[in-house]
Order: sequence, then C-alpha cells, then structure tokens
Amino acid sequence: MEKLRNGYLFPEISMRREAHQKKYPDAKVISLGIGDTTEPIPSIITSAMSEYALGLSTPEGYQGYGPEQGQKGLRKAIAEKVYPNMGIRDTEVFISDGAQCDIARLQMLFGRDVTIAVQDPTFPGYVDNGVIMGQTGGAEEPSGRYAGIEYMRCAPENGFFPDLTTVPRTDVIFFCSPNNPTGHAASREQLRQLVDFARRNGSIVVFDSAYTSYVSDSGDKPRSIYEVPGAREVAIEISSFSKFAGFTGVRLGWAVVPDELLYADGTRVARDFDRVVCTSFNGASSVAQVGGLACLATEEGREAVRRVVGKYKENTRVLVDTFAALGKEVYGGDDSPYVWVRFPGQRSWDVFAEILEKTHVITVPGSGFGPGGEGFIRVSAFNSRERVVEACARLTSFLA
Ligand code: PLP
Repeated sequence: MEKLRNGYLFPEISMRREAHQKKYPDAKVISLGIGDTTEPIPSIITSAMSEYALGLSTPEGYQGYGPEQGQKGLRKAIAEKVYPNMGIRDTEVFISDGAQCDIARLQMLFGRDVTIAVQDPTFPGYVDNGVIMGQTGGAEEPSGRYAGIEYMRCAPENGFFPDLTTVPRTDVIFFCSPNNPTGHAASREQLRQLVDFARRNGSIVVFDSAYTSYVSDSGDKPRSIYEVPGAREVAIEISSFSKFAGFTGVRLGWAVVPDELLYADGTRVARDFDRVVCTSFNGASSVAQVGGLACLATEEGREAVRRVVGKYKENTRVLVDTFAALGKEVYGGDDSPYVWVRFPGQRSWDVFAEILEKTHVITVPGSGFGPGGEGFIRVSAFNSRERVVEACARLTSFLA
C-alpha cells in the first residue's frame, strides 16, 4: 500500500474543485472531468427493477442468495445479445458488480508473481491493483512509472497502438478499447496483432470493453476481442453496464472467461476464476441483475439505452468540433465519451489548473493516466447538452 501513489487522481481533482469553489463561491463550475454518467436511466429499466424490488416484500417474490456467477437469464442474454455469433456460452459469462471489481478479482487470481503490461496512457485501475498485489518493485518513480510494469506507449504518433515487435513478453496484458482516456478504438488489424502476440508469448489478454457501446464504426473496429479469430484461447473480456446503461451507481458488469483459456499445465483459467468469485464475492445484487436483463432482453430496452448513449455521443461531437475550431490537436470522441486534447509543451496539471481558473470547467490531466498522458487533457461528454455547450463557449473565449 505504501508504494501506491499518494493521491488517486479523482480525489485530487475533487480537492482542487472544492478549493476553487471556496475561492470563487459564485462560480458555476461545470464538470467535464470524472467519467460518471448523468442522464436518467430509462424507465423501462427502472420499472423492472422496482417491480422486482417490491416483490421481495412478498412471500412469493422473495429471493435470497442467487448463483455467485449470476442469474442464468442474464448470462444467456449477454452471451446472445452482446456476443452474437462469437461462440460465447452463457456458462462463460460471470456477472459482477462492475468492471472495477473484476479487475481487482482478476489481479487476485493472477497473484503477485506475474508480470503485466498496460497501455500508456490507460485507466489507472490495472496498475493500482497490481501495486496492491505486490507486482511492482518499488514506489512510483518520478517518471510516473512503477518498476516491473511494462508501459506500452499509445500516442497519436503510433496510431494509439504499441509497436509489439519492441514490447517484451509479460504474463498478462491489460488492454482497454475504446480506450479510457484517449478514446481510441483499436482496429480489427490491431486487435489481430494483439491476439497473435499473446498467442506467441503464452500471455493472457484482459480486454476491457467498458465503452464498447460507443463504437461508431463496428465494421473495422470490433466491439469485442472475440471477433478476432483465436481470441478465445488468450483473452478474458471484462465489461460493464455503467457507461452503457447509466449503472455507475446501480453497479453491474461481467467478465467472460472462455473454456479454451488454459494455463501452461492445461487447466482451465475459468475454474480458478470461478473459485475466486465464489470465495470473495457472493454475486451481484439481484435487483441490479433484473435491471441488466431489462436493458438487453427486449428491443425496447436495447433501443432505450442506445438513445442515452446517442445523447452523450452528440455531446462528444460538440466537444470535438469546439477544440478543432480552436486549432487544437484533438483525438477520440468518435468511439468513446472522451475527447483527448493535446497542449504541446505544457504540463497536464498546469493546463487543468489554468482551464479551471479561467473558465470554471473541470477536465482531467492526462498525466493521471500514465506518463504517456503528459501534455494532454481528457474531456468527458458525461453532462447535459446545456452544460457541455456552456463549457464549450467558456473554453472558446479562453483559448481563442
Ligand atoms: N474500466 C474502465 C476503462 C473504466 O473507465 C471504468 C470506469 O470509469 C471502469 C472499468 C469501471 O467500471 P465499473 O463502473 O463497471 O466498475
């Protein structure tokens, strides 16, 4: 624990926001920072949850513990609706209380002796859980790296995809696409390279598809690693209802661990993951699972969540257009709720502080996602259209 960075990124941003609000009590601060959803959950989903919850007060409707791996109907709906024609069986889907929690459980499964690689920049959860497990040699270095972790640089210069011919072998590769924070969705060819690389090296890929519902061009950009031939033998996929259905507070996600994913001794990784799940987690909330099923089971439910994602995607367009009109180098946005903006020669925290001071808009400093994020900020589309438009007007008058 002592090796972990002093502050986690988002608490640090909250502290700065509070200090700013104290300094300017009348300022209307707009947050385009933390990746929390803001749109209400469609009522077709909440009414299914409330009906089930009320049933819990009746002798006929009461249910206690469910299967640790999740309700059969939801596992089946995910296998069929999220992974059509990808050969995913319902028994390979493990329902969870969110992708964040699955990252911790997977790191618990892998243990302290594995080597890991991560994209740089990336969501901090993979590295931080690795540090907690003891996978690193020492505390965070001034460069923002931990010794013992392989950082795969993903920048505009390499199409946000690492040159795998120069990446050393690791036991596990955490790969997030569409990526948080860069917003880049890997192409089919890039994922094919990743799967081949893992197969050659005997590595496990943990593919985080929490933002897959934002992918615009699903022709060239797979929505799942299992669209790539051979992925079933090397990849675990973790995903979530958080950004897809606004379940950041409700809490629901899943992990797919295919039967063909084997350790070197031929035993199934799924068997051990099942053991970890049954030991450290007694299953996701039954109310949340009913909500998850309502998102997937009917065309009406699926259309309702698509509409919400569509609203955020329109916000992203407004953000991208604003930064582009200001002559900024801007990435992401097409396939994710995040926009990644470069400020050459400047430090991310300085840009964050300057924008907050002058416009009362909260962003996220790119360096919080790894050394490769230095010089960038992440801007999130998770807010109302009105606030996004207002934030863009303020940014335009400041940056123009
Ligand atoms: N993975 C990525 C890439 C994320 O950005 C987030 C949340 O921001 C999570 C996982 C956590 O998701 P959940 O709410 O399902 O725990």
